[in-house]
Amino acid sequence: MEIVFYPDPFLRKVAPPVEDFGSALAQTVREMLDFMYRSKGVGLAAPQVGLPLRLFVFNPSGDPEKKEEEGVLVNPKIVRRKGEEYGEEGCLSFPNVYGEVRRATWILVEALDLEGRSQALEFRDFQARVVQHELDHLDGILFVDRMEPAEKIRIRRQLEQLEREFKKTRATGR
Ligand code: ZN
Repeated sequence: MEIVFYPDPFLRKVAPPVEDFGSALAQTVREMLDFMYRSKGVGLAAPQVGLPLRLFVFNPSGDPEKKEEEGVLVNPKIVRRKGEEYGEEGCLSFPNVYGEVRRATWILVEALDLEGRSQALEFRDFQARVVQHELDHLDGILFVDRMEPAEKIRIRRQLEQLEREFKKTRATGR
């Protein structure tokens, strides 16, 4: 697996729902979790590794030993949200870019598990932030889209740097 970096247009696509629940899906999710931990991330959406699948993995602790905090949500949907707060976010698709983003502090999510069974899950605080960030990826929405104008100005140079690097890698045909 390889990270799809900003501004790759693939990150802007709406990921289609998962329809096949079998051993191949479970294997993909295992690989995504391994990749997320190795990349020191707390969440990874399938489009970030080039997979057109409506799912993401997460572990707000970032610690592979803390399995109880690990999760995978397939075809997720936020059905209720409460509260609002600003907090700092980063993203594996945006190396070294961090910024404040406003998110709900509590969410209720409907999603499927790896066997395709429906479940309703509550998330709060940082956990809710991670889930909202990853769910956005499935709709082609990136955390920089949700930043306030002042924050966008603050990170503008870093985004321009990523845009230049992306053009270079495209130019060399990688
Ligand atoms: Zn992200």
